[in-house]
Amino acid sequence: MNLTKTCPVCKTTFTGRKDKKFCSVKCKNEQNNQKLADRYLNVAVARTEIAKLTAENLELKKQIALRNETIASLQTDLKRTGVLGQIKLGGAVVNGLINSFGK
Ligand SMILES: [Zn+2]
Repeated sequence: MNLTKTCPVCKTTFTGRKDKKFCSVKCKNEQNNQKLADRYLNVAVARTEIAKLTAENLELKKQIALRNETIASLQTDLKRTGVLGQIKLGGAVVNGLINSFGK
């Protein structure tokens, strides 16, 4: 049984079987090509986002590494100057704080 329908691409009315969606092969291909173009555009946008996030992640890793180097250097200085030993006399709480900066 043929039904009257509206083509989603060119908006013309046509008659066809229940499962027919487009007025012509041209409109069917146009819709399919648009879907593919949208998909590639989404992939391109996703790749750009991933590249941006990767760059941000790399920058954060650099900052963490720099911070860890600074902490290690400070801990070495504290040990070398004997300040750490003096702090230990003040209790394990201070030493625990110093160690927690390295984590
Ligand atoms: Zn059409």
